[in-house]
Amino acid sequence: MFFPNLKLWLFKLLFEERCVNCLKREISDLGYLCEVCFYQLIPTKRFETLAVPYVDGFYTIFEHKGIGQRIVDLIKFKNVSSLARQVGKLAEPFLEDIYKEINPDYVTVVPPDPLKLWFIRGFNPPLEMVKETFLGNKVKPILIRRLKIRRPLSRAKDKLYRFRLVKNNFTVRKEYLDLVKGKTILVIDDVLTTGATASEVGKILKSLSVEKVYWFSFFRA
Ligand SMILES: [Zn+2]
Repeated sequence: MFFPNLKLWLFKLLFEERCVNCLKREISDLGYLCEVCFYQLIPTKRFETLAVPYVDGFYTIFEHKGIGQRIVDLIKFKNVSSLARQVGKLAEPFLEDIYKEINPDYVTVVPPDPLKLWFIRGFNPPLEMVKETFLGNKVKPILIRRLKIRRPLSRAKDKLYRFRLVKNNFTVRKEYLDLVKGKTILVIDDVLTTGATASEVGKILKSLSVEKVYWFSFFRA
């Protein structure tokens, strides 16, 4: 027998996990990204205030550029949910710092577009990103998103148009209407672009007497 391990070799060739970016097979315990690619992620300035009403501050970790953009595309357009969980694990130490800094009463995620969740993606990216981190059991389903047929937000480049698309799209669940009064809420999302979604969510929360609204996005576009 020339190839006693042929079956095993074939199995490994076909199924062994590879780095999602460079396809190198030796991936580290960082998971779906090899160490080399992980360190190519560009850090953001972490905290910023945008000229966006209703949100007290924005936190981000990675730039939505290069490998960062590739990761987001794989999660959002190729539906790689495992990579979303990996991003969460990579970001966890930073997320812990941010959490300590804000000390929120509630943590929630931006709810998914129902059509995308049910028919296309099968998971909500920001929830998938945090669910295996220390925030996993702290996330409360405070917000809901109304089913509204519209063009995907990502295709709308114009800032004003983006604002119009997400208008009045969110609401707070009945059971949280009184609970959120006077509280600090941290909202988690995947990508921060103009802050249009943040502003809309912030507006709803502040109208319910929420004291502080902080926004955290893994990626900054
Ligand atoms: Zn790699």
